Amino acid sequence: MLYFALVFALLALILFWQSARQRMKAGLPGGRIIYTDTRAWGALEKPLYEPELGLTGKPDYLVQQEGRIIPVEVKSGRAPAAPYDSHIFQVAAYCLLVERTMNTRPPYAILHYDDRDFAVDYTPELEDALLDALADLRRDEMRREVPRSHEEPRRCARCGYRQECEQRLI
Ligand code: SF4
Repeated sequence: MLYFALVFALLALILFWQSARQRMKAGLPGGRIIYTDTRAWGALEKPLYEPELGLTGKPDYLVQQEGRIIPVEVKSGRAPAAPYDSHIFQVAAYCLLVERTMNTRPPYAILHYDDRDFAVDYTPELEDALLDALADLRRDEMRREVPRSHEEPRRCARCGYRQECEQRLI
């Protein structure tokens, strides 16, 4: 289980690095503001796992709506003006996991912040961008050294890998 947790943590990090490039390439959906009823949200007992991609993840909640299953990710704090790309990729990964493990494709996922909710449409373009990022991740796993992809000390300051990273900026 630790391995899977590490895979997903690494995935989140790589996707964060790559988000700017992916956004330009894919034209990621920015997220629609929606109103949700949290009483319909059900917690998951265990993570979803997709063996072909070696991908695992656990949405905070799943919502059943008219036969559809919508993953929900809860973020603490106030909502940004638009969801961060890393958050969009995270919920896209949950949509992919739901589709492949439950045989139903979520039309969108919900990003829930303290003061606002966004719906992120799970479009074919977003799915393609996610699969491209996963393929890049696989390639990078084969490489011994992956160069830092940014020049932002503030990002390193917030990074959970800072103590071990030889490329940190601060
Ligand atoms: S410390 Fe900086 S360079 Fe190293 S992994 Fe974190 S964000 Fe990237």
